[in-house]
Amino acid sequence: MSEAGVQKTDVIIIGAGPVGLFAVFELGLLGLSAHVVDILDRPGGQCAELYPEKLILDIPSRVKITGAELVQDLMAQIAPFKPVMHLSRMADKLEKLENGHFRVSLDLGEVIEAPVVCIAGGGGSFTPKKPKLERLEEFENKSVFYSVRKMEHFRGKNVMIAGGGDSALDWTVNLNPIVSGMSLVHRRNDFRGMQATVDQMYALVKEGKVALNIGDIVRLNGDGGVLKSVTLKNAEKGEYDVPTDVFLPFYGLTMKLGPIANWGINIDSNKIPVSTENFETSVKGIFCIGDMCEYPGKLKLILSGFHESALMAHGSFHYARPNQKLKFEHTTSSSNIQAKIGG
Ligand SMILES: Cc1cc2nc3c(=O)[nH]c(=O)nc-3n(C[C@H](O)[C@H](O)[C@H](O)COP(=O)(O)OP(=O)(O)OC[C@H]3O[C@@H](n4cnc5c(N)ncnc54)[C@H](O)[C@@H]3O)c2cc1C
Repeated sequence: MSEAGVQKTDVIIIGAGPVGLFAVFELGLLGLSAHVVDILDRPGGQCAELYPEKLILDIPSRVKITGAELVQDLMAQIAPFKPVMHLSRMADKLEKLENGHFRVSLDLGEVIEAPVVCIAGGGGSFTPKKPKLERLEEFENKSVFYSVRKMEHFRGKNVMIAGGGDSALDWTVNLNPIVSGMSLVHRRNDFRGMQATVDQMYALVKEGKVALNIGDIVRLNGDGGVLKSVTLKNAEKGEYDVPTDVFLPFYGLTMKLGPIANWGINIDSNKIPVSTENFETSVKGIFCIGDMCEYPGKLKLILSGFHESALMAHGSFHYARPNQKLKFEHTTSSSNIQAKIGG
């Protein structure tokens, strides 16, 4: 950190999917620091969000590994390089500065500057699926939120969470200690989340700390964006109102290219063409790796992204250390690398 409020690093990585995470490692081997930005509240991209419990069978030397385990191991592998993680943040704007460096502004106000930007945006930023409810827009970002970006925001509130997956269950459990009241609504009494979290949620219901409602959401009630109650409906009770200050629907996520589309980089059908020599885009100093990059023969595989990370790191070095010569070293024989990683 130097100028007030501006954080400085060697490389800003957009996307904390498996490829963005491994990029931290490859950059770290060359002595380059990284900040990683992701709109999701946890690292891992598609592995964490779409298939955490499924087995991946084509990661070299890992005979089988779940999506969640791969993310956990990647986080352990990059830990020695101390990346700064900006989770629950959208990388919103990119500007080129007079000194040739880039300034990336995040949607919650942080500003990061670096000589290199590495886009590892995968299928795009994860964007929430919204419930089909009248007047929804009137309440959005005032009383209706699709993610928990600051838990403190919900302290002392009467919160209703909707959904039956991991996010709905995680936030039911995690927010419970700080809210004044909590209800969980889902269509069926059948939850898709991790069994341990499902059990924790049922325990909170038993203790009277969560009111579980099985049924449909009919309407939002309130004025000027201030929610008063949510009307629910089920076969047993018909329509009934639940007093609510904050409504958090967790109905899953879709992926959209998002703000990257406005960064002045050549884009072809939502993909960023790159040179296969170093994975640089049409803008010097901006690289793209993983599912979002495009070149002849590109395979959307994690292992391809890992290879792309290594070449991107070597390409980045020349921008981050223009006066130094890059020395290629194997991890097995480099005492310098072993000292960094503690091998
Ligand atoms: C069901 C399923 C099974 C799969 N099985 C396999 C398999 O067996 N083997 C295999 O190799 N691959 C598999 N894949 C593909 C693999 O998951 C992808 O190739 C891999 O996730 C790509 O990694 P990535 O880091 O490029 O992108 P992603 O994992 O998509 O991560 C990109 C991240 O960037 C973030 N992001 C984008 N734009 C912004 C922005 N502006 N600001 C903030 N954050 C942003 C997104 O939120 C996301 O978290 C599978 C995919 C699916 C869906």
